[in-house]
Parts: sequence; structure tokens; C-alpha cells
Amino acid sequence: MSSKILEMATFHAAGSNRAADVFVDACAILASQGHATALPGQVSLRDGNSTRMLTLRLGTGLEEAGPDSLLLIDENLQTLEGSGRPNPGTRFHAWIYQRHPQVCAIVHTHPPAISAFSMLGIPLPVAHMDACMFHDDCGFLARWPGVPTGDEEGALISQALDGRRTAFLANHGCVCTGQSLQEATPNVRRAWL
Ligand SMILES: [Zn+2]
Repeated sequence: MSSKILEMATFHAAGSNRAADVFVDACAILASQGHATALPGQVSLRDGNSTRMLTLRLGTGLEEAGPDSLLLIDENLQTLEGSGRPNPGTRFHAWIYQRHPQVCAIVHTHPPAISAFSMLGIPLPVAHMDACMFHDDCGFLARWPGVPTGDEEGALISQALDGRRTAFLANHGCVCTGQSLQEATPNVRRAWL
């Protein structure tokens, strides 16, 4: 099945606004575009107005996402519902939700083109019409102390999103936020291009 057909099938056939359904659809669309699976990427959805979030069980690829692999976790990454533990990278998601109350969804992946450019260690200008949506809407994080699973990295990544919906992370990848997964997911897909 082509990615375009999969996209239409998932969004149109499901016809559901249930958080779990939307979450699984978003993961399927990202996977169909070849986005990272398991450790290198995380998707999360804020639970109402709380700092809890829906995310995938550690080790679950985006293409494997289903109702049984979803977890509800708190801001300390403790599992409240579901079986298993989350990706430790969701710690920076918790920081983003706490610092940016308008953010309700986060998609973070390591697209190959973004990963390659990220090793230049410089912010990217918007120099192509297909990237216009990122104009003045993409922060840049040049340095961090280590693997982004700690509080220090969470603080830095959440700050890079001040006044921006997306951030380009040097030597790493991208993070896109939105008031919904329907808003955050297309921006990650465009970042793939
Ligand atoms: Zn990452």
C-alpha cells in the first residue's frame, strides 16, 4: 500500500476522535513515511489539561502501535495505565508540556535528511517554498550535555520551543508540537522532505 493510500485510509476510514485512535493513526502515518521506530522517536499526546500523557511502550515501533501498546504516564514517567514502561526520551516531552501549556501533542523523530543537516551544527534558513511553514516557527538547539533523557536536556529542549512550534536539534533530529496530533504530525512529515 502506498503511503498516500495509507494516509487516506487511516484518517478517513477510522472517523474517530478517540485519543487512542488518533494516536495510532498518527503513528501509522509517520511509519508509512519511514520515520524512526522504537528508541529514536517518540509520539505523545497530553491527557486533557494535565501533565499526564499518552505514549508508546518502550520498544514499540511506530508501525507496531496499537491499543495494547499505549501507556498513560505521568510527568515522572510512571505508568498509570497500560503495561510496560515508556521510552526514557519522553522525559523531555514532560518538560515541554510543563513549560508550554498550549502544547497538547509532540512528535519527535530523526529523519535522515534532518539528521544529516543537524550534524552541521547550525540553524537552517528557510530556503525552499516547501519549508515556508517553518519560517519564524522553528527554534534551534545547538548544544546539550548528553543523551536527551535527563532533566537538563528536557529544560534545554523545552526552552528551544519558546515562541515556536518546532525545533531543530543539532546532532539529533526535530521536535514538532501542536494543539493536536493532527497539527503536529504533518510538520514532522514535511521535515522529512
Ligand atoms: Zn531523539
